[in-house]
Amino acid sequence: MKINKDLVVEDITRRQFLNITKAVAITAAVGSFTVKARAEHVQPKLPYAMNALEPVISERTLSFHYGKHHSGYINKLNNQIIGTKYADMPLEKIILATAGNPQEQSIFNNAAQTWNHSFYWKSLTPNGGGEPSGTLKQKIESSFGSIEKCKEELSTAAGTQFGSGWAWLAIDSDQLKVVKTSNAGNPMTQGMKPLLTIDVWEHAYYLDYQNKRADYVKAILDKLLNWEFAAKNLSS
Ligand code: FE
Repeated sequence: MKINKDLVVEDITRRQFLNITKAVAITAAVGSFTVKARAEHVQPKLPYAMNALEPVISERTLSFHYGKHHSGYINKLNNQIIGTKYADMPLEKIILATAGNPQEQSIFNNAAQTWNHSFYWKSLTPNGGGEPSGTLKQKIESSFGSIEKCKEELSTAAGTQFGSGWAWLAIDSDQLKVVKTSNAGNPMTQGMKPLLTIDVWEHAYYLDYQNKRADYVKAILDKLLNWEFAAKNLSS
């Protein structure tokens, strides 16, 4: 068989070129990973499938909410803190360090929205709703009078939050409270520990419920609220 030397040379050269290109790409990828590894906050995986909360929250809503809104806050936060004193701080520390500081408002917003959404996904669960049990149940009864009263307060807080924000069940010293926060607010900045939350930004429900926020909140309370998550937070 006659070997065409030109072709062989050309082939080797092309292969070498491809290998070099690959090596450069790998170096670049490793390089960028190394740079980001110190500062990067990573979006946690959803604790259920994208369609697992249907029909209360549609796959379409969840894919935008998780894939665009939540990931957007995380990307912005990562970009904002590179090279700053916040680069190596845990998320909760960033939130507490920037809360109430007008100069750090944007970092606070993206950090808190990153935290709030990760917490919100866990505050929901397929086949949730119903009633809490054990210590959480006792604590709710001693703080609110009854489970029903606690749910009413959550529903009122979620319904009356003017504009974008969150409704929370939180513990303040030894007392459980329902609080609402606007925009990216989080009760941890007021010394409370969040137990669960409901996102009442329009992006959380508008595709499914349009302007009927009360219907979205009721459906969450009845069918998705993750009382076990709240109980775990109470005991930790
Ligand atoms: Fe949201």
